[in-house]
Formats: sequence, structure tokens, C-alpha cells
Amino acid sequence: MSNSGKVEALIPRCLCSIENSDNLNIDYEDLCSVSISWENGFVSELKPLKIKNKRPNNILFPRFIEAHSHIDKSFTWDEFPNLRSNYDEALSVNLQEHKTRTTKKVLERAEKSLNLAVKNGYRAIRSHIDTYQHQGNDVWAELFKLQKKYSSKLQLQFVALAPLEFWQTENGRKLAKNFSVNKGIIGGVVVPPFNKKETIKLLSKMLLLADKYKLEIDLHIDESTTEPGAGLKVLLEVIDKLNIQVPITCSHLSSILFLQEKEILDLGKKIADNNIKVVALPLTNFWLLNHKSKITSLKRPVAPIKELQKSLVDVSIGSDNVQDPWYPFGNFDPFYMMSCTIPMLQLNPWERMTLSSIFLAPSRLLNLKWDGLIKKGCPADFVILDAQRWADVFSSDLKRKVFIKGDLYC
Ligand SMILES: [Zn+2]
Repeated sequence: MSNSGKVEALIPRCLCSIENSDNLNIDYEDLCSVSISWENGFVSELKPLKIKNKRPNNILFPRFIEAHSHIDKSFTWDEFPNLRSNYDEALSVNLQEHKTRTTKKVLERAEKSLNLAVKNGYRAIRSHIDTYQHQGNDVWAELFKLQKKYSSKLQLQFVALAPLEFWQTENGRKLAKNFSVNKGIIGGVVVPPFNKKETIKLLSKMLLLADKYKLEIDLHIDESTTEPGAGLKVLLEVIDKLNIQVPITCSHLSSILFLQEKEILDLGKKIADNNIKVVALPLTNFWLLNHKSKITSLKRPVAPIKELQKSLVDVSIGSDNVQDPWYPFGNFDPFYMMSCTIPMLQLNPWERMTLSSIFLAPSRLLNLKWDGLIKKGCPADFVILDAQRWADVFSSDLKRKVFIKGDLYC
């Protein structure tokens, strides 16, 4: 059978659930030796590898999930570079790109991104799509077609990333109604400096619209070096006042890093109490924020993952932009993201909370059927590396095999 197989591999202990774990061989980097078999695309057996002193030559991961990307503008760097490498210039070059944007161009970039993502080991992606008032609507019909086209290989979720004002226009309301059928998410940007009263009004309308059509919200919020947590505080005020339950994701949430630890923990508790999920985006934050041309600045805010997790907030780590005015590098490769992020944020790969933010939290964020734990009965969706230690995972000559529903994809 083509979608069946068996392999001996190392799996991070926190990413697998084994019924009979008495004889489990777990090494000092929390990798355990297992024998894994699959039939008809699902794991049929997962058991400890008993042979002592025999260490598998593979590390097996569940296929990855990208919690935050922008497939509508990826690979536009060549045409629209941002050589100053700061936020304002990124925004201004992004607006230049909008002037030449067509549905055809968006689809080409999206397909290129998705093909790379599948090949590199992703099984699901949430992507924001720039959305503005005077844009034709045909792009959405085409994007939902693309979502269907890729559905056997990759689950794709869209967020309409629009100015907050958009959601109170006729076009905004129409799109929200369309999304109630097509399961889209409504998005926006809340970054200081802003008019507090006006932002409260706009956010309130957006939340009420989401509530009306039972939609989720995903905000680019506090991607900033000034007014730490200003956007989050306004959002919490609005939620408190409206007293409605809308699923909300805060993407970035970078500037709260500049608050005192106690205030971060207090805000974290409010975030958790309101079931708000957070996506940390270290790559773009470290690249764009507080960029100084003459000094080496280490004061670059990123969502304080450890403090938020301590407050029981569900935090995912995402990649964000790929080769566009916001970030010139990347390749829809989860190992590139991990290789940069793990040392950058001092996250130990042998710890459960680190791997949770990369594998398990994103699965909850995207409401995926499979939580990402390797266990009997789970999909045979793996990325298997020629590797024996974490050092091999973060090396430059990575050799990987991607399995989709039990079949070798590449
Ligand atoms: Zn983004």
C-alpha cells in the first residue's frame, strides 16, 4: 500500500502520546526513541524502541502550521525593496505595491508561497490579505478557489487585513457577510499613535460586526516601539464595555515587552481571561522595529512569550512576511523560522512550552481537527529529518522528507 510505512525515529517527548510508555527511552534533549507505523494514511502503531544503544537516525515532527503570513505580497522585494529596513518605509513601499496590484499577481505570489510551504513541511497556513476600500472583490472569489485547490495538501485560512474604518463601510459589511459563508476572518491594524476615542468607536463597530456574522478577528496590534500596550489596553476596554464573546487573535503585541514585568503579567491575565490568543512574530519585529542605522540596537520589542505563557495565554510563534518590503528574507520554511527564533528569544527546544508555541498552539489557533500530537490514529503527516540531535535540526544541510497522509510528498 502506498500510504503505509514504518520508521524508527526520535520524536520530542512533548509532541507524542504513547499508551505504553514504561520502557520509553528519552535522552537528555527530551527526544524519545520510537517505532512508528502507519496504514491508510493514519498512524496505526506507536511504541517505544526497546533495543538499547541503538539510536534512530531520524527526528520526526508533525507537519507544521504557520500562524501568520502574507502570501499576497510575498516575493515582492525585488520590485519593492525597503532598503532603509524600518516600519515607516515598509508601509510606504507596501502602498506603492498596492498601486500595481492585480488579482493575477496576488494569485501568482500566493501559489508560489503555498508550493514552497507544502514542500518545506507545512500543513496549514493563516494568511492576511491586504484589503482596502477601492479594491475589486474578484480577488476573494479567486482566493477561496485556491483554498479549495490546495485543501488536500494544506489548510488555508484568510484574514482580510483592512484599515479599521473599512469595517463600517458598505464594502466592509458585504465582505463580512461573504466571510460568514466562506469562513474568513476580519483583520485590522491598531498601532500608535492613534486617536483613542476614534479607535474605541471603530473597534467597537468591528467587534459588533464580527459578533453579528459569527466571525473571528485577527489584529496587527502594538507592532510598535512607542506607547507600550496602548492598542491592547483600548481593545480590552472595548471588550469589557461590549460584553460579547468574539474570538480574537492579537498578532505582534510587541510593545508590551517594554512594560514592567508585573504589568505584563497582569495584562497577560486579562488576555487569558478573555480567551484572546497571541501570535509572536520575532522575525519582522527584530528586523524592523527600532532599526538604527548607526548604532547596534538590542532594544527591539517582541511579544514576551514566556511571561504571557506564565499568565496562561496561548501563544503561537509565526513567521510573518517573506521577501517583501517588511522582511527581505525567508522561504516559507519552518526550520528557517525555528533556527532564527529559538536562539533569538532564548527558547530551549527541549522544553514543552517552546514546542507548544510552534506546534500545538497554532493548531488551536487555526481550530484544526488534529492537535498536532503524534499518537495512534493521528494523520501520518510528518516531516522526517536526517538528524539525531537538536544541533542537526538547526544545521545548514538539512535533509528532510515530507509525508502527507502517509505518502512521501518529497
Ligand atoms: Zn503580519
